[in-house]
Amino acid sequence: MTVPPPLRLVADAVAPMDAACSVHAPGYVDVEDGLVAGVGPLGGAPPPRPGAAVLQMGGLLLPGLLNGHAHTSMTVLRGTGEGLPLDRWLREAIWPREARLSPADVAAGMALGSAEMLLNGVTTTNEMYFFPEQIAAGAARAGIRAIVGAAVISGPERFGSPAGQITEAVALSERHAGDPMVEFTLGPHSAYTVGDEALAAVRDAALAHGMAVHIHVAETRSEGAPVEERTGMTVPAHLEALGLLEARVIAAHGVWLTPDDMALFGRHGVGVAHCPGSNGKLASGIAPVRAMREAGVNVSVSTDGPASNDDLDVLSEARLALLYARLRDGDAQALGVEDALRMVTSEAAAALGRDDLGALEPGRRADVVRFSLDRPEYGPLEDPAEVLGHLVWAGSARDVTDVWVGGRRVVENGALTTIDLDAAAAEVRQIAARIAG
Ligand SMILES: [Zn+2]
Repeated sequence: MTVPPPLRLVADAVAPMDAACSVHAPGYVDVEDGLVAGVGPLGGAPPPRPGAAVLQMGGLLLPGLLNGHAHTSMTVLRGTGEGLPLDRWLREAIWPREARLSPADVAAGMALGSAEMLLNGVTTTNEMYFFPEQIAAGAARAGIRAIVGAAVISGPERFGSPAGQITEAVALSERHAGDPMVEFTLGPHSAYTVGDEALAAVRDAALAHGMAVHIHVAETRSEGAPVEERTGMTVPAHLEALGLLEARVIAAHGVWLTPDDMALFGRHGVGVAHCPGSNGKLASGIAPVRAMREAGVNVSVSTDGPASNDDLDVLSEARLALLYARLRDGDAQALGVEDALRMVTSEAAAALGRDDLGALEPGRRADVVRFSLDRPEYGPLEDPAEVLGHLVWAGSARDVTDVWVGGRRVVENGALTTIDLDAAAAEVRQIAARIAG
């Protein structure tokens, strides 16, 4: 990939998502070699770098949003089996279609879903699905940064054995070592679908190769019961006993974590991907976000897959996370606007173990999103910092106009510069019709 020239972005407001949650109004962001080279209030900014293009953007600049848990290739299954209870939804609608999915279908679904995410201001997504190499190919086509959890399952024969899946994931990880656009991780679906032997092999591979582990934990109230009956431990305690929490782990959902589970996750630096929209749609429950964060757990607010949510709009999930946390605790101070924004930027990056992402800070990757402030819902502003509240409570991903990933402008004035959206959507429509059988 060619390196874009140095760039200075000037905006009415810049919220770098630093520790103080500053808003520089007006502010600037300098970009060089795909990294943030400087950020701050425009008054007192150093001269732009030699040869830099200076773009007077107006609007609000934020770090690109992160999606901490998704199965984006499932765009090809969106809308399927609406209203069926979970077991019938899987058996009658999802599994028969998934059995007909080819690797190329997975890439096409990923490309379209990645395009949707970029248009929604998401610049990094943490994935888990079959055919990891095709997930990465679809992401690359759209120009999104991807963390690709290679599914590890003891299931359909055509996906091979868990040992084979792990070997493939390790090979992909090594082949792409140092590639800033894609990281391969291990994606054992859950402790209730993957046996102890395979989980131990995941642990060994993760520790030997420095790979992260992406796994579903405590999504529903009853899913952990077989593990508890067999081992006498909750799923998080069982994962600790297996040594899996020695690795960098991101646990999706965490709706039914006990206080001891949360303390365990906090001690081991396990990140949790909170998926309020998916949990609401499937009536799984309301995750204890405040308690998790008080236990020292980094939380990423995420979409889950588009077959069960159904859009890939992280900002709308941030608003849901606020609403749910406040309703759960009956306390309007349970979670604040800044918390919600951290959980889709800097804290999400920490949950994913990626300190190169999630903030506009010198040395981090230049993933930037611009929101237009032209619509009436962004006023009035007594204080520039109020723009963050307006963004979360009144704004929406519809206000995203421009997106840079590693300094590359992938959305310009509301349009993708990378792929033909109509063609990508047509391709997915054809796949959906074919796999419906
Ligand atoms: Zn999931």
